[in-house]
Amino acid sequence: MPSDIDIYIRSPKAYDWARQAIEAMEAHKVWPTAVNFELWVHYVAAKDSRVTAAIDTVLQSGAPFTDQVGEAIAEQHLPHAKLSGEILDAGKSLTEELDSVSRAIESARETTESYGQQLATASESLQGEDAEAVRAMVENLSAATRKVREENAALESQLAETNDELGRLREHLEQVRRDAMTDALSNLANRKAFDEALEQACADPNGKVTLAVVDIDHFKIFNDTWGHQTGDQVIRYVASVVGRIAETGHRFAARYGGEEFAVIFRGEASEVALQALEGAREEISSRILKRRSTNEDLGAITISSGIAERRAAESPSALLERADTALYASKRGGRNRTTVAGAEEAPKAA
Ligand code: C2E
Repeated sequence: MPSDIDIYIRSPKAYDWARQAIEAMEAHKVWPTAVNFELWVHYVAAKDSRVTAAIDTVLQSGAPFTDQVGEAIAEQHLPHAKLSGEILDAGKSLTEELDSVSRAIESARETTESYGQQLATASESLQGEDAEAVRAMVENLSAATRKVREENAALESQLAETNDELGRLREHLEQVRRDAMTDALSNLANRKAFDEALEQACADPNGKVTLAVVDIDHFKIFNDTWGHQTGDQVIRYVASVVGRIAETGHRFAARYGGEEFAVIFRGEASEVALQALEGAREEISSRILKRRSTNEDLGAITISSGIAERRAAESPSALLERADTALYASKRGGRNRTTVAGAEEAPKAA
């Protein structure tokens, strides 16, 4: 089944729409990412669609049309993006369902085993009695018990097979879910996984959570100068340094947008996050990168970061907004620096 963009892009007006979409993106300072391109083709080709209405709402609000805004609109309104989210959720429910079936099977197996053992014990204790009638009864009972145990044994082996099959299915589903939560370029968690992790971290209204957002400075210029392939390598490099921050403690690192990353620090204060992010900043700014194809020096790149420690009962989106504001303070302050929310006036300079 063709996606919506296929319908527009294979129509006689396709080139006009593609050109108009690019022009509209440029006019509104929107990066031409694949997702944004798809949205903006809808915008120029389907004036009365929900995508168009959602884009108009953002434009009228005067807020910048960032990659995150585009991804949120795509997730909500583009049928295939919505579908993949629903598949993920279905996978999660199925995994939970399988867990509960496995537990039921395991408990049935334990009950059967203990029933067999109880009968065996009763039968042994009755063997001490003299009466012939009791002996006959015991023998009958033993025979019946043996039969039940044999049948149970067959059932147990069948259940064990089913349980193994469920285990394999669960592993497969988990793998599919992990893949869908991972950003293929950087190998870090993706935006969806990040949203879930932040939601979870903030589930306890009093839990300590610090959030850091990181952005590669002048990435667009770098990309325009050296090309997308080298740009992708730089994203992989920064991802590897940011990812290392999350190798200790209850931390979680993600590629949050195009050249933007985020780290969640659970149970850690902003001072700890500041130290970690400053370490990453220094490491990145002191490394001279090479162009793989020609071995030319690319020079060093820098990152800017914003950090916010969660206030009591603060929502994930409010926390993210404060971290973003701190990041913009770092950008305004000259880049290559880390700012902690609440201390924007005096950012930690390079
Ligand atoms: P990758 O190319 O897959 O490299 C993975 C890791 O292998 C690197 O992790 C590094 O530990 C090691 N490695 C690869 N090539 C070299 C090399 O020529 N010399 C040395 N000493 N080690 C090497 P690292 O450094 O964290 O980089 C992660 C990714 O970041 C790399 O993945 C690559 O995609 C990108 N990257 C890092 N440095 C550069 C660079 O100077 N130029 C370009 N184009 N990409 C780079």
